Amino acid sequence: MDVKTEDFRFFREDLCDRCGDCFVACPYLELPREEARREIASLIESGTSRALDVCNTCHTCDVVCPNDADPYELVLEHWWERRQEGLPTTARLVTPSEPCNIWSSLKALMPPEELALLRSWDDFSPCEEICLTGFYTNVVPYILQSQVLAGLPKIAGSEALYGCAGDIYKTGRFDMVEQITRRLEHVFGEMGVKRVICSMSAEGMVLSEILPRRFGADFAFEVVQLDDWLLEKVRSGEIALEKGLGMKVTIHDNCLSKMQDGRLQEVNREIVERTGCSIVEMEHHGDRSMCCGFGAAASHFRVMDIMSSGYRRLKEIEATGADAAVIYCPACLFILSVIKEMANCAIPFYHPVELVEMAAGGHPAHRHEERAWDIMAVISNHLLKYALFPSHRKRFQPAYIPPEIVQLPELPPADRLRLKALAALFHSPVVQNRPVRALTSLGFKAAVAAYDLARKNRLGLSV
Ligand code: SF4
Ligand code: SF4
Repeated sequence: MDVKTEDFRFFREDLCDRCGDCFVACPYLELPREEARREIASLIESGTSRALDVCNTCHTCDVVCPNDADPYELVLEHWWERRQEGLPTTARLVTPSEPCNIWSSLKALMPPEELALLRSWDDFSPCEEICLTGFYTNVVPYILQSQVLAGLPKIAGSEALYGCAGDIYKTGRFDMVEQITRRLEHVFGEMGVKRVICSMSAEGMVLSEILPRRFGADFAFEVVQLDDWLLEKVRSGEIALEKGLGMKVTIHDNCLSKMQDGRLQEVNREIVERTGCSIVEMEHHGDRSMCCGFGAAASHFRVMDIMSSGYRRLKEIEATGADAAVIYCPACLFILSVIKEMANCAIPFYHPVELVEMAAGGHPAHRHEERAWDIMAVISNHLLKYALFPSHRKRFQPAYIPPEIVQLPELPPADRLRLKALAALFHSPVVQNRPVRALTSLGFKAAVAAYDLARKNRLGLSV
């Protein structure tokens, strides 16, 4: 299909009065008013702005814009122009049609019971009501094994579905989002789905807001968020909470939770309070919440941008003095778990399902730390290939996504071997001992500090 740039114009220049509110509020620019006005004018008129370098796809500017002009989409439009020539090699990790992606790599490291779980979800046979696992729930599938979710309908969803295009929308590859929209219409249409409970609220927002509004999605099903489903079961007493957990927790809000007036942020706060926890908020929360680090990759696909942005968020978590952090987006949960392990931070992270399970007297699998080291093996394998093979440094053009689900390529045997060796090392006492963890943490923090300073000086920013 021949797609033209002008097919995707989402920013409403006609509504923009260049007030600058967007870039005053942007937590990654935080510009004074006059500078913010000049910056948005420059982005509109000449396509140049520091926002194109630092945008973490946090969605704040869209939420604060008084005229609903959607300035974040202007950033995406410029990335879309840039990305038609191909994606940087790091994007292979989140592209299911590339043989060595995060899902194929993790499957080489997961225990047999998790692999069996994923296989059981790879089922798109007709069904009127499903729980959709989502792209990144499949990175931490053990969360959905919880006893408190026993009343869920059939769980379905694999990376073959390409998620709901939420992360691909963030990269600006609108042509791929369009293809995924047609696939979702086709697959869910064939299944005869009438109700979808989304295990990942960000995907629920994409299904109910972004795809219908911007890509003409014609879905014949109702979208329900797992967060709403869980709260209803707790409120009704169908899930009986036996004990108050008595922890002081902080809550990380994901970028798309800012949509629909932040309704889901309140839902998750009520779930947390009903488990007997008190809430202490981070400096940036609610409609000003910062990215977990995942969205920081969208501008240049640099691993250091993820580390830097994620560590900034982790420091906000630590500054609250909370006993634990609650992270309701599975993607944020795994990225922040990696950052936490790199920084050797002792604060435990929980998904709301795990908190509810604990308050109901159960014991969640809670493998976030372990999974974080698996993901570090996946990232290390990618960096190793980048260093060793010039062919792996090249940009690539993702394969066309047809409406029907197609077989994905297998993980190459050489990657499987390297991944297993790296994971064995990372999980071994050679790495998992106090001096090595302390040294790793020091090195990580020093690298982030040097990177942040260089970027601040280069871009002339105060943050
Ligand atoms: S996009 Fe919205 S917030 Fe930004 S300058 Fe235009 S009207 Fe103001
Ligand atoms: S989406 Fe967030 S990071 Fe990007 S420009 Fe808007 S406010 Fe800034």
